[in-house]
Amino acid sequence: MGMAQKKDYYEVLGVGKNVTGSELKKAYRKIAMKYHPDRNPDDKNAEAKFKEAAEAYEVLSDDQKRSRYDQFGHAGLNNQGGGNYGGFGSMEDIFSQFSDIFGGGFSNRGRQQKTQGQTGSNLRIKVSLSLEEISEGANKKIKVKKYVGCKPCNGTGAKDSKAIKTCNTCKGSGYVRRVQQTFLGQMQTTAACPTCHGSGEMITNKCQSCKGEGRTYGEELINLDIPAGVSEGMQLSMNGKGNAGMNRGSSGDLLINIKEKEHKHFTRDGNNVLYELDVNFADATLGTSLEVPTLNGKVKITLPQGTPTGKIFRLRGKGVPSIQGYGRGDQLIHVSIWVPTNISPEERKALELMRESKNFQPNENDKRERKGLFDKMKDFFSG
Ligand SMILES: [Zn+2]
Ligand SMILES: [Zn+2]
Repeated sequence: MGMAQKKDYYEVLGVGKNVTGSELKKAYRKIAMKYHPDRNPDDKNAEAKFKEAAEAYEVLSDDQKRSRYDQFGHAGLNNQGGGNYGGFGSMEDIFSQFSDIFGGGFSNRGRQQKTQGQTGSNLRIKVSLSLEEISEGANKKIKVKKYVGCKPCNGTGAKDSKAIKTCNTCKGSGYVRRVQQTFLGQMQTTAACPTCHGSGEMITNKCQSCKGEGRTYGEELINLDIPAGVSEGMQLSMNGKGNAGMNRGSSGDLLINIKEKEHKHFTRDGNNVLYELDVNFADATLGTSLEVPTLNGKVKITLPQGTPTGKIFRLRGKGVPSIQGYGRGDQLIHVSIWVPTNISPEERKALELMRESKNFQPNENDKRERKGLFDKMKDFFSG
């Protein structure tokens, strides 16, 4: 069969060498309709002609392949003899490649296959994470209440294997043929079998545990691997971890909605975290070193002498990692000068001494600098 002489593609489609694209399409459509498997059920000869026409059309409708074919014949196309149908592995390939030609009126018989049961629905859960967990990535085991495959019947819904019989209506194929009148004449179309809903099987004796559904309501312990850098409102999904389907239908997905717990120290802004640092007037004026919390432990920072209120320090890489896996945000430390509300008579006396001192009078330069900082903060909060 491998060395069989192949027929000329132009001949196959009954067209001349100078055929135009639209003429070619028309010619192919005519032949494809004539030998269409829906009109010629179980006719091997028609199927061969149908595939032959598809191969010829596939080559001649492609300018590059057509010019190679015109120059070198079949040898120019690297076809491995017969049987390959010009790269079409199956009837299904032909239907899907030329869907513009077969669309409407025809069922894609090549695609028809038994359908198993009914797919389970998706399941949604919420997972609340601390900023620390978001920063590190989290592994959570969560018990989810949902439909699970029925164990006693292994999801079939049948009492035992003897209780599964071939469907009488469709003889096990899962689909039925119908004759329809279309503009091309009488056509056979196929549809899912109404008796077995496409499974090709019938259950004569139902499983007691699931009443024939193939699933029961139960729970599953699910291992959630949450990547670092997720954020509020983000949705992750796990394929096939939703509700089990009915009668061996596939399971739905588990959709995980991320919630972010409020943090006692930090406010998140993108991948940065903001920390409000209150310092007393003396520390801000004289400078000091102090500890601030970060997402992974405390860090010592130096507050320089004369730190103004509104100053922002940046701890590089102490924020949240990017969800894409490169880089990390920063921790921004926003300084506020803390003003005491209760003071002793001694403290009052000391402050009264400084009140009139020249160095304690606000000056315009400082104010301008602070305004700059304020603008930065505005950017920070709106950005
Ligand atoms: Zn059936
Ligand atoms: Zn069962």
